[in-house]
Amino acid sequence: MGRMGRIIISVIVILGLLALGLKGCSTTLRKAVFAKAMPGSYFAEYSRIHPSLYQVSGQVYAFEKEFARSMILRTPDGIAVFDTFDTAHMISLKQTLEQEWPQESVRWIVLSHNHLDHIRGSDVYPKAEVIGHKDINQLVADWPNVNSDIASVTREISDDQTLTFGDVTVEALYMPFSHSSTIYGFHIPSDNVVFAPDMMFVDAVPPFGFPDFYYPGYIRALDRLIAVNAEHYIPSHMDRGTRADLIAFRDMTVEFQGVVEDEYLKIDPEDFIQGIGMGDAIKSAYDRLHPKYGHLHGFDAMFVPKFGRHFGGTYLGY
Ligand SMILES: [Zn+2]
Repeated sequence: MGRMGRIIISVIVILGLLALGLKGCSTTLRKAVFAKAMPGSYFAEYSRIHPSLYQVSGQVYAFEKEFARSMILRTPDGIAVFDTFDTAHMISLKQTLEQEWPQESVRWIVLSHNHLDHIRGSDVYPKAEVIGHKDINQLVADWPNVNSDIASVTREISDDQTLTFGDVTVEALYMPFSHSSTIYGFHIPSDNVVFAPDMMFVDAVPPFGFPDFYYPGYIRALDRLIAVNAEHYIPSHMDRGTRADLIAFRDMTVEFQGVVEDEYLKIDPEDFIQGIGMGDAIKSAYDRLHPKYGHLHGFDAMFVPKFGRHFGGTYLGY
């Protein structure tokens, strides 16, 4: 962010503090500040990623468009698509595959976890077998107003699994208590590739404090993917990256938690109950983290929700 950007943020924060300090008739001002605080441009940044199918290694490909990236396996028995994201993504993916490989069909859809932003558009291939954790169908059914364009899982799996797609073997690595209760990472040993859905963000802070996240288990999940030590890693969102990027993301997450925990422990429990100390904690955490991580996409935009998530998570043990 440039100097002007920081000035704008500062003005917004000052206005916000004024708004929160005002009573009664400040509603209009307060709403205006809240509206400005919604970081819409966080996602718009990735409109620069145009639809593209590319080979990662051997039979493993990826299809990326804007914020999302699917993994594709190309086998003699058909194509497997890992994560579908939304209908626009899948229509673009389908057109691309039909152009590139007109004689081949998509036979399998694999859903990495139940989050709707990863599985919308999965009904674009109605004949495909849909593979995912055994709890996904129930979790999707819980959201009747927003679960459109989603195919039901037809092959339910649990725990670690070895899956076979044509001549390609995939190790499905179950990551309990990390990010949702249904999430898998995927390792393709023959081509030395790991697909890391929601477990790898390259030069970026995850959106909105990463709501569905159990910190200790999430770090265990990242460490498990790092330990695979594959040559190629595919993130499901934002920019492409390498194992070094995954390690950097892991280290940033650990340092963020460490700083917030340290600031949390400085607050006297009596003060905490009175609501005293959190303001100082967020200011101090920002000063400690910004020099090293301020350049990451979304650092300022997502700092407040991320601080809140780590701070609240430390209080709860979550
Ligand atoms: Zn997710």
